[in-house]
Amino acid sequence: MSTDTKRYVPPEWAFTFHGHRCPFMPLGYRMGLLALEALGVGRDPDHTLHVVCELGEGHPQTCLMDGIQAATGATLGKTLIEKTGWGKLAATFWHPGKTAVRYALRASFLDELGKFEFFAQRKRGVEPSGIPAAVTQEVVDWSLGLSDDAIYSVTPRPDFVYQPVKGSFNKTLCAKCGECVFERYVRVQDGKPVCIPCSGYLR
Ligand SMILES: [Zn+2]
Ligand SMILES: [Zn+2]
Repeated sequence: MSTDTKRYVPPEWAFTFHGHRCPFMPLGYRMGLLALEALGVGRDPDHTLHVVCELGEGHPQTCLMDGIQAATGATLGKTLIEKTGWGKLAATFWHPGKTAVRYALRASFLDELGKFEFFAQRKRGVEPSGIPAAVTQEVVDWSLGLSDDAIYSVTPRPDFVYQPVKGSFNKTLCAKCGECVFERYVRVQDGKPVCIPCSGYLR
C-alpha cells in the first residue's frame, strides 16, 4: 500500500480550474493517477486515452470529472472524456494496446464520506465555496489517509470496446448561415451543404 499520499493532492492549478475546494475533485484526481498507473501510460499530451465516466447530471459529486481530467489529460476539449449519464461514481479508462480498467467509488467509502459536516452543509444548499475551509479540509484529509483499496474498486475490462473517431481537418461553408462546419457534420439540403442547425435535423 502506498503511504505517499502527497502525490494524490491535486496541483494548485487544478483547484483554480475547478473553482472551489471540495472532496470530489481530489478523489477524481487520485482515480485518474491510479488508472494511468494501472494502464501503464502517462498523462496524455494529445489524443489517445479515452475515459468513459458513468456520471450523470443534477446530482452531487460530478466534481470527480474535473479531477480525472486534471490527472489524465483526457479533457473535454480534446474530446477524450465522455459521460454515460448513468448517475454512477465510476469511470472506465481505455488506451489502445492496454486492457481497459474501471474504477468505482466503493459504497462503503461513500457511506462514511457522507457523514462529514461538509455534506450536511451541502445538503442545506451551501455551495462548496461557502463552506469553511476547515470543514472541507477535514473530509479531504480523511480520504487522503485511506488506502486506494478502501476507496476504489478496480475491475479490468478486457471486453471494453472503444472506436476512436477519425480526425479530419476538412471543413466547408454552410450554404444558409455562411459559417464553417467540419465535414462529418455537413448535411445536404436541396443539393447544398448546410450545417445541422440550419438543416433542421437534430443530428
Ligand atoms: Zn468540486
Ligand atoms: Zn448554417
